[in-house]
Amino acid sequence: MKKTFNILMCIIIFGLLTILTQIGGIIYLLSLWLNKLFKYDFKFKQSFTFLGLYLISTLLLVPLIAPIFGREQVQHTEYIKPTNYMTVLLNRNYVNPQLNKLLMAVTSDLKGLNIQINYLDANFPFINKFPLLPHLSHNDGKKLDISLIYENSNGEITNQQKSISGYGVFEAPQPNEYNQIDKCLTMGYFQYDYPKYVTLGSINNELKFSAKGTKKLITSILKDKNLGKLFIEPHLKQRLGLNNSKIRYHGCRAVRHDDHIHIQLK
Ligand SMILES: [Zn+2]
Repeated sequence: MKKTFNILMCIIIFGLLTILTQIGGIIYLLSLWLNKLFKYDFKFKQSFTFLGLYLISTLLLVPLIAPIFGREQVQHTEYIKPTNYMTVLLNRNYVNPQLNKLLMAVTSDLKGLNIQINYLDANFPFINKFPLLPHLSHNDGKKLDISLIYENSNGEITNQQKSISGYGVFEAPQPNEYNQIDKCLTMGYFQYDYPKYVTLGSINNELKFSAKGTKKLITSILKDKNLGKLFIEPHLKQRLGLNNSKIRYHGCRAVRHDDHIHIQLK
């Protein structure tokens, strides 16, 4: 009975780690095997082995191996940073080299404006069609979510964010704006505003959505000829006065895009 329970726990942990980090499940199995091999025991041996192997793989090995499979980490610069460093620690920061080129072009276009690209979930390092849940489409190295831009109380653009995870703090429609969110929710797509459960806490409540900063960022992204599509919630598209055939509506089956924008290569 105990053995069955242990096997079941192993399968669950393997599944969760794979869904969350792609390589975590395999590293967990490897750490179990290594622990069996080395007999002497100490406190937290299992966790220690797993964490050691996981960190070495994530920080050193995977960044070296992923380019063989056509992906690389989102390159950090003074103006390109993850909104939350967990994105990097969970291996959710891999893209095709073309997407890095796009980000570099955007930052050079925005030079002097103090607008930082805070990126969110990208893709896993390996295997096309392996989805980065909960985003089903982030499975080919061509997709990236980017945070909105905010201003402080003096109206100055800041690089701070309003949600710890980067998701789930919405810039909701104003009463006079088209409300796609209500429409999707009344049609029964109750997952549409689920990101509200994954903020991990809201911060910097004094910050305000920066229409001018976000518009500049989006306009600059739209200039790249390799951009395929950009998703943003319709009321923000309207508010920012954006009009470009690459801006599409993602549909009610997705989640609302007024906490971040989604970009994808052709
Ligand atoms: Zn996305």
